[in-house]
Amino acid sequence: KRGHLSAYNVLFFADPIRAAMSQLEEQLRKRRTFAIISHPDAGKTTLTEKLLLFGGAIQMAGTVKGRKAARHATSDWMELEKQRGISVTSSVMQFPYGEAIVNLLDTPGHEDFSEDTYRTLTAVDSALMVIDVAKGVEDRTIKLMDVCRLRATPILTFVNKLDREGRDAIEILDEVEEVLKIQCAPVTWPIGMGKRFKGVYDLRSDKTHLFSAQHGGRVQSGEVIAGLDNPRLDELVGGQAEELRGELELVRGASHPLDLDAYRAGRQTPVFFGSAINNFGVRELLDAFVDYAPPPRPRETRQRVVEPGEERFTGFVFKIQANMDPAHRDRVAFLRVCSGTYTKGMKMRHARLGKTVQVANAITFQADERRHVEEAWPGDIIGLHNHGTIQIGDTFTEGEELKYEGIPYFAPELFRRVVLKDPLRTKALQKGVVQLSEEGATQVFRPLKNNDLILGAVGVLQFDVAAYRLKDEYGVEAIVEPVGVHTARWVVCDDDKLLARFKEKAYEHLALDGDDQLVYLAPTRVNLSLTEERWPEIRFLATREL
Ligand code: GDP
Repeated sequence: KRGHLSAYNVLFFADPIRAAMSQLEEQLRKRRTFAIISHPDAGKTTLTEKLLLFGGAIQMAGTVKGRKAARHATSDWMELEKQRGISVTSSVMQFPYGEAIVNLLDTPGHEDFSEDTYRTLTAVDSALMVIDVAKGVEDRTIKLMDVCRLRATPILTFVNKLDREGRDAIEILDEVEEVLKIQCAPVTWPIGMGKRFKGVYDLRSDKTHLFSAQHGGRVQSGEVIAGLDNPRLDELVGGQAEELRGELELVRGASHPLDLDAYRAGRQTPVFFGSAINNFGVRELLDAFVDYAPPPRPRETRQRVVEPGEERFTGFVFKIQANMDPAHRDRVAFLRVCSGTYTKGMKMRHARLGKTVQVANAITFQADERRHVEEAWPGDIIGLHNHGTIQIGDTFTEGEELKYEGIPYFAPELFRRVVLKDPLRTKALQKGVVQLSEEGATQVFRPLKNNDLILGAVGVLQFDVAAYRLKDEYGVEAIVEPVGVHTARWVVCDDDKLLARFKEKAYEHLALDGDDQLVYLAPTRVNLSLTEERWPEIRFLATREL
C-alpha cells in the first residue's frame, strides 16, 4: 500500500517531473477541489473549521462561525437565516496545505436547498463523506451518494464522533458497503470509542496517534507511537492494545485493501476515523486527502472532452448567489475553471449569448474573504459579477464554441402562485422572480393561457425565502398562494407538427420556464400519466440538463 502511495506522490510532486511541467500543469496538479457531503448534524461544519485550521487559513477553530455571526448582524438576507436557524448560503474556501492548494466548496445543509448542493457537486473533483458513528448511513447521505455516483466522483469517508458511544466500526463499514454500494478500505482504525476512545492507528504509517481531548480546537497533540507491536502502546492503553491488534487482523482479512484506482473510479472509499470537534484524526484525513484525491479531471462538453491542461481558458457556472456581502449588493456567479488560466482583465466568450466580455474583477474566496484574483487555474472557483446576463450552466471560453453539460435542474415538487399586493409593481415582480429563478433557488413558470407567475421549488422554505427577498431586494410585497399544479415536466419533441398539435390540445396546462422552455404543468399525477400515454412520441422530462 505504501509503495503505491509513494509512487503516486512521485507522480505529482517529484522535482524532476515538476521542473519539466509548464506552470499551468504544475498549478493544476496542486489543485484539490472538493465538497463535504453528509446528513445534517454529522459534523460537516465542525470538520470544515478544523480543515481550515490545519490549512493555516485561520488561527483558531471557531473563527468560521464567528465570522458568520458577524455577517448575520449586518445583512438582512442573513437575518432570515438567523430567524430560521439554518444556513442556506454556501461558500467556497481556498487554502494551501503542504504542496497542495485546496478548494473546499461548502454546500447548504438544509434539505430544501438540496438542488444547490447537487449542482455544487458537479463542480468538484472529489468528495468527503462524513458519517456519525452513532447513526451510520442516513437519508441525505444516500441521496448525495447517488448524485456523486452519476459522475463517479471519488469519495473519502470520515467516521466522526468517536469520542461518543457509537456503533461498532466493522458494522459501520458493512453498512456503507451494503447501503451505499461502495467498497470500504480502512486507512485508520479506532482504538475503542466513547469513554474508552484512546486514539487511531494509521495503517499507512504504522503509527498510533493517542487521543487527548482538545476542545479549544488547537492543532492535535498527543503521543505518537511507532509500530503496532511497540510495548509503549500496551503501557499506555493497556488491554486495548491487544484488542486493537486482534481487530486489525480481522479487518485486514475481511476488508478491501486500499486501491487508488478503484477509489478514483468511485468504486472504493478509503475510510478514516476520528472526532472532528476534538480535532482528532483530521490531520491524517487531510494528509491522505491531498495524496489520494484527484487533481482536476477532463470534462465533457457537448462538442468534445476538454483536458484541464489545455492552454485556453474554459469554465462553467454552477451557482449564482445574491448579496453575499452587504457591502457588495450584487449577484455573484460561481465559475469553475476547467482548463487554461484566468488572468485579470482577460476577455472571455459567453457561449450562450455568443458575446465577448471583459472580466476585470473576478473574485476569489480565500478562507471566506472576498479578494480580487489576479490568476486562477483549473479546479479554482472564481466569482463573476453578474448583472443578469449569467445563468447557471453557462459556459465561458477563450473563443471556442463549447457547452459544458450535466448541470441538473429538477422538476419542482411544490408550486405557488405569486400574487402582488400592489398591482403597479408588476414589472418589479417579474424582474425579481426571473432573477431568483436564474439563481436556481426557485423556478418560474409563466402559463401560456394567462399572466400568472407560478413558482416551483423543491422545498417549501424556498417560497418564504423568495417572498422575503422580493420584498427586501426588489421592494415588492407579494404573497404566495396555493395553485392547482401537482408536478412539472419539460416537453421535448423533435416533430414540430406533432408538437404544434400537442400545444393546441394541452394549451391549458402549458407554460414557459425562466429560460423559455416549454413545460407541462400537470394538475394531478393521473393527468400526467394519461397525457404521457396519449402522446407517446413526446418526452416529458423530470430533469432538465443545462
Ligand atoms: P453539520 O450539521 O453536519 O454541519 O454538523 P455540525 O458540525 O454543526 O455538528 C453537529 C453537532 O455535533 C454539533 O453540536 C457539534 O458540536 C457536534 N460534533 C461535531 N463533531 C463532533 C465530535 O467529534 N464529537 C462530538 N461529541 N460531537 C461532535
